[in-house]
Amino acid sequence: MPSPASVIGNCKVEFDYDLFVIGAGSGGVRASRISSGLGAKVAIAEEFRVGGTCVIRGCVPKKLLVYASHFSEDFEDAAAYGWTVGETSHSWKTLIHNKDKEIDRLNGIYHNILDNNNVTLYQARATIVDKNTVRVGEETVTAKYILIATGGAPVMPDVPGIEHAISSNEAFHLEEFPKRVIVVGGGYIAVEFAGIFNGLGADVTQLYRSTQILRGFDADIQMFLSEEIRKKGIDLRTHSNPAKIEKTDSGLKVTLEDGDVLETDAILYATGRKPNTDNLGLENVGVELKENGAVKVTPESQTTVDNIYAIGDVTDRIALTPVAIHEGMAFAETVFGNRLRAMDHENVPSAVFSQPQVGTVGLTEAEAREKFGEVDIYKSQFRPMKMTLTGGTEQAFVKLIVDPKTDIVVGVHIVGADAAEIIQSVGIALKCKATKAQFDATVGVHPSLAEEIVTMREKFVAA
Ligand code: NDP
Repeated sequence: MPSPASVIGNCKVEFDYDLFVIGAGSGGVRASRISSGLGAKVAIAEEFRVGGTCVIRGCVPKKLLVYASHFSEDFEDAAAYGWTVGETSHSWKTLIHNKDKEIDRLNGIYHNILDNNNVTLYQARATIVDKNTVRVGEETVTAKYILIATGGAPVMPDVPGIEHAISSNEAFHLEEFPKRVIVVGGGYIAVEFAGIFNGLGADVTQLYRSTQILRGFDADIQMFLSEEIRKKGIDLRTHSNPAKIEKTDSGLKVTLEDGDVLETDAILYATGRKPNTDNLGLENVGVELKENGAVKVTPESQTTVDNIYAIGDVTDRIALTPVAIHEGMAFAETVFGNRLRAMDHENVPSAVFSQPQVGTVGLTEAEAREKFGEVDIYKSQFRPMKMTLTGGTEQAFVKLIVDPKTDIVVGVHIVGADAAEIIQSVGIALKCKATKAQFDATVGVHPSLAEEIVTMREKFVAA
């Protein structure tokens, strides 16, 4: 393949690559693959493991741990369905070993994707030297375009004793299963890990600094999920935050801001993530950052330097793997496919793998009221059929938000088993701007939780 070249001023400049991607996570790998398919000569740098947060220490291992933790409840429920389960016990070591094997397998698949698409992998940290030059390990390479896809990393507040705390990164590799766990935070990661440790048998206390967990979610979902997770045995405390953490002979002593003292074996901070933009050399070339350190980009993911682009969590638009992948594909088509394309960040469905799950797409009620003034609300809370024999107290919740002027459904929020699976298809309906009348004209699948979405007829009227 001839060397990629560009005309700068009157000179023809030759580069080692058309594209140099920094960060081999979901977004970076997808952008590399598609760009290569469109004829670009591509290289990618990764300082840790190919696959990125989602595959190596995020969505994938997290979901495997969620599966593991659900069995305890399933064993209990099984008795009401006639099963004799006998004594059960759980081996954390086996779970972590099997999870690691699966992550190794996926890591191998990601390597193959790069190999099969002729993407050169540099297994080293890369920094930007100038707008066309990257230092990677001991080498210096040039590229016509640079794509920053470096993701984010957990942040922990500056609390005395924070060195005794772990983040989600370490939670996946604990040597021993902690019998008592404190989880700090009320976002996706905190809620998911509180559920994982609780299901696996730990005594879990979740501390949230403000009033309602899951900031930004619909208020009904926040309230409903809080109740459900408390019913499962998680000691969820709001307006509660650690003031200091001390190591003791029997574990950790955590003093809260209100003076309360808790003993625990592990304290997990899930207090947000920050974009990985430190020491990348961005200041060398004038790539501007937002106040929180995220890279500023146009809708087409172009930074303030014309040949440097950025996608995924490092841009802090919507920090979800499938969003990074879409942004990566849009980047490749824009730059190498000659088709200007911006990812559409509206109506992105997402799920929290809490127990029970949350599935959500579109606007919350508060956002819809702000945008449309009046809105129609449909809500349903009910006992899932599985609970009828077990006597379990778990409830499910479905909420629809409709713009009354157009009849378009602008938000759907679900709490219940398989909410993640359900919300995916509802996302298509919202993308198509489906109306409430079209939801109503859709025949329900019976008996299912999902049928509630198409069978609610009575508007909710506040008492
Ligand atoms: P979030 O930003 O969602 O939540 C951070 C939580 O920590 C909030 O409850 C916040 O409180 C609290 N917090 C922040 N700073 C402090 C502090 N100094 N002391 C105490 N509490 C604090 O971050 P996560 O780490 O949970 O997740 C990061 C992103 O990763 C998510 O936004 C999501 O996009 C993505 N993700 C998606 C998943 C999925 O799709 N299922 C799973 C996991 C992550 P407050 O509300 O008051 O700000």
